[in-house]
Amino acid sequence: MKPHKQIKDWGLGLSSPLIIAGPCSAETPEQIEQICKEMKEENTVPQLFRAGIWKPRTRPGSFEGVGEEGLKWMEIVRHHLNIPITVEVGNAAHAELALKHKVDVLWIGARTTVNPFAVQEIAEALRGSDVPVMVKNPMNPDLDLWMGALERMHAVGIDKLAAIHRGFSDAYDKRFRNKPNWSMPIHLKRVWQGMEVINDPSHIVGRRDGLLEVAQRAMNFGLDGLMIETHHDPDKAWSDAKQQVTPKALKQMIQSIDFKEPLENMKPDERLQDLRRAVDHLDDQLLDILQERFAVIDQIGTHKREHHLTVFQSNRWKEVMESRTQKGVAKQLSEKFMKELLYCIHEESVKRQEKQLREAEPLKK
Ligand code: PEP
Ligand code: MN
Repeated sequence: MKPHKQIKDWGLGLSSPLIIAGPCSAETPEQIEQICKEMKEENTVPQLFRAGIWKPRTRPGSFEGVGEEGLKWMEIVRHHLNIPITVEVGNAAHAELALKHKVDVLWIGARTTVNPFAVQEIAEALRGSDVPVMVKNPMNPDLDLWMGALERMHAVGIDKLAAIHRGFSDAYDKRFRNKPNWSMPIHLKRVWQGMEVINDPSHIVGRRDGLLEVAQRAMNFGLDGLMIETHHDPDKAWSDAKQQVTPKALKQMIQSIDFKEPLENMKPDERLQDLRRAVDHLDDQLLDILQERFAVIDQIGTHKREHHLTVFQSNRWKEVMESRTQKGVAKQLSEKFMKELLYCIHEESVKRQEKQLREAEPLKK
């Protein structure tokens, strides 16, 4: 994807770490007004105010949002807090209405990101506009689907983009409402340099306790902001009552978080530079060793070919896996890491040897 504009260049006066807060759903004008007043009183005005106007509910019969009417109430936020607002859009009609009411930033929800038809429809409705769009990860841990939604926006000329990590639904792990998968947002940032990812601990945890821990982890990993559902009377909220916090609790939480400095903002740091040089050197050594290892693997491949042996030998694999994992664990490397590393190396070895078999001249009988 071609370069996109970072949050600081959206023209809305926003910066990283971006703090987004506001209710899961806009319920009444009085509710919006009360939340704004308490945010002001508590001196915890976010940079961007969120509110769900159309609510994608998993099952019918629950509160599905106030609809277009709620967009008019966003004026209350502008009046009291003088900050930009963001709402979720789930189809082209929502997108058109949000543009009509001059919503500052749009977001695409997890249930929409999974559907390329809906994402494309929204993208078409936004063509020619300059509105920033934040794309939540899809319900399932599929990085391509997440990237695809961002690409569809970019393809129609939306270049003010960010992503939101809100966790993934998991049939078995009930510790979270949506289980975080930290490697995925980090991978997104690796493949698209400069792509900012906001963390949404509210939908990850699904309860008030535990929000701080997830938010802190997100900052430790270097994510670029937080979206926290905030309501003046959370227990009476019409949606996601268990996970919303009061403006007062929001303030306490933000104060407790240790926001890390992005390295780009730091002065040159001698010690860090030294350590990084050491890592560079070790990585070079690691690559040399891998190169040597694969050269031996190729020789084994030739031998197997000459003796009509299959590439994959399960006993040998089992032995390699067990002995190396044990050695790794003894060196304080985690078992999970060792297994993943060995799978990765072994898969590459098997593929190389099988390629050798395919490409080799047939052996003379
Ligand atoms: C929300 O932000 O209220 C919401 C519906 O989130 P998600 O799309 O992450 O479920
Ligand atoms: Mn919600």
